[in-house]
Amino acid sequence: MLSKKMEQTLNEQVNAELYSSYLYLSMSAYFESKNLKGFSKWLKIQSEEEYAHAMKIFNYILERSGKPLLMEIKSPPNHWEKPVDAFENVYGHEKKVTSMINNIMALAEDEKDYATRSMINWFIDEQVEEEANASYIYDVLKMIGDSTNGLFALDHQLGKRGKE
Ligand code: MG
Repeated sequence: MLSKKMEQTLNEQVNAELYSSYLYLSMSAYFESKNLKGFSKWLKIQSEEEYAHAMKIFNYILERSGKPLLMEIKSPPNHWEKPVDAFENVYGHEKKVTSMINNIMALAEDEKDYATRSMINWFIDEQVEEEANASYIYDVLKMIGDSTNGLFALDHQLGKRGKE
C-alpha cells in the first residue's frame, strides 16, 4: 500500500509526464510549421515516450492499490522565437523533471518504500539520457547560430530517429 503522501507525489508525477508529452507535441507542431520535419518527428516520438512514462507510473499506482487522480494539464507554449529557444525550454524542463524524480526517490527512501524505489530507479536512469539528449541538441543549436546549412543538417540527423 502506498502512503497518502507517496500516492499524491506519484499522481503529480503522472501530471508532469503528461505535461511533458503536451509540451513536446506542441513543439513538434511549431517545427512542422517551420518546415523542419526532422525536429518535428523527433519531438513527436519524444511526446509519445513521455505519455508512456505517465502510463508507467499510472499503472504502478494501480498495482499498489492506489488511486490515480488525473489533474488538469496546463496548456504548453506554442511559439518560440528560434529553434534554440525551444531546446533551451526542453533542457530546462527535463532538469525540472529530474529534480521531481529525485524527490520521489528521496521520499521512497525516507518511507522505506522499496517497491517505489525500485520502480523509480528506472526513471533516474532515463533522466540521465533525457538530459544528455536535450543538452546535446541545445548545444549544437547554439553552435549553429544563424547558419541555415547547420540547421538543415541537424534537422536531417534528428529525422533519423526511430521509435525505441
Ligand atoms: Mg519523462
